[in-house]
Amino acid sequence: MAGGFRLFKIYGITISIDFTWFIVFFLFSWSLAYGYYPSEVPGHTVGAYLVMGSISAFMLFVCVLIHELSHSVTSNKLGVEVKEITLFIFGGVAQLTREPDTPAKELKIAVMGPVASGILALIFYLISIILVNLEVSGPVLSVIKFLSLINVVLLVFNMIPGLPLDGGRILKALWWMKSGNINTATSAAGHVGRAFATFLIFLGFLQMLSGNFSGGLWAILIGVFLMQAAKSSVQHQQLEYGLEGLTVGDIMTEAPHVITVDISDKLDRVVDDKFFHYHFVSFPVMNQGAPVGLLSINAVRNAGRDSWPTTNVLQVMEPLTRNNCLSPGDSVMAALIAMNSTGQGRYVVLKQDTLYGVLSRRDILKTIDFKGRLAGTETKNGASGAG
Ligand SMILES: [Zn+2]
Repeated sequence: MAGGFRLFKIYGITISIDFTWFIVFFLFSWSLAYGYYPSEVPGHTVGAYLVMGSISAFMLFVCVLIHELSHSVTSNKLGVEVKEITLFIFGGVAQLTREPDTPAKELKIAVMGPVASGILALIFYLISIILVNLEVSGPVLSVIKFLSLINVVLLVFNMIPGLPLDGGRILKALWWMKSGNINTATSAAGHVGRAFATFLIFLGFLQMLSGNFSGGLWAILIGVFLMQAAKSSVQHQQLEYGLEGLTVGDIMTEAPHVITVDISDKLDRVVDDKFFHYHFVSFPVMNQGAPVGLLSINAVRNAGRDSWPTTNVLQVMEPLTRNNCLSPGDSVMAALIAMNSTGQGRYVVLKQDTLYGVLSRRDILKTIDFKGRLAGTETKNGASGAG
């Protein structure tokens, strides 16, 4: 999802557009202008069809945006913060910082998108009826009819009950309400999502074999995308579950056990004594007992091997700032999000400007693994107890 750019901000939410959307915009306008509209309203110029196709594709974008905003505005109202929406092929992805913490919230957020698409379909349908009564026909009427139809398609497609689609989120919420277990609910909705994606890919191949090459290709592309998204929905849930309620202080390596380097050490000594010995990617830097920076293996490499004997740690370290430190009370989920966005795998933990510990991505992954194993035994015990 890296290839895109920001369009504007509305209700405090940044709207971004993925580059794939431009390909879709072009293909969509083209297929409407050369296929759909000439057969719906014959007898117009190619130019007229192209205008109709482009307006329809643009309005599809607006409708998808309204659908996504309906989810996100609801989400923000319920306290599940959404800061950015990225629009791509046939929909959008709202970047949640956290998942909803109750099934009722999940359900409300999921339902609002299809509701918006349904209302849009109805509005365009009513407009088309008014136009017919005013005896307006031709291009304007057929564009309005098409917009009503495409919103019905968006509604139906999104209601398929597999993650990451809205129907999948609704299924997850209902299952979660009934069972009280968000993990089984998520994996069930994830399985349906993957089954649907597999079906779509299969259908795509069949269509291609029967001669409908472009239609088949679309089905396969959407299927592959949904498959990926279904997997990552489930993984994200496992992560949230594994890290729920944990703070940095709970799982960090505590200060007495942290290996540090001194500000005046020469790099060749640090490479031999620290990096090769302990195999960490970075070390906290100390100056007279106080933490002042972080020395990463990348900084050492960038300094160049020839200069190691004459360069000291101070010259290449990254000074500690608010952005590259953690506090013991920070949530582990927030720490992981920070690690993913900065690419830095090890953070210094400070308490009142003294070195309190170090937290690495490896510590977090070990915790998730450990909690996953514990959860497995819990379920088994629970089942035998109930039986
Ligand atoms: Zn939706």
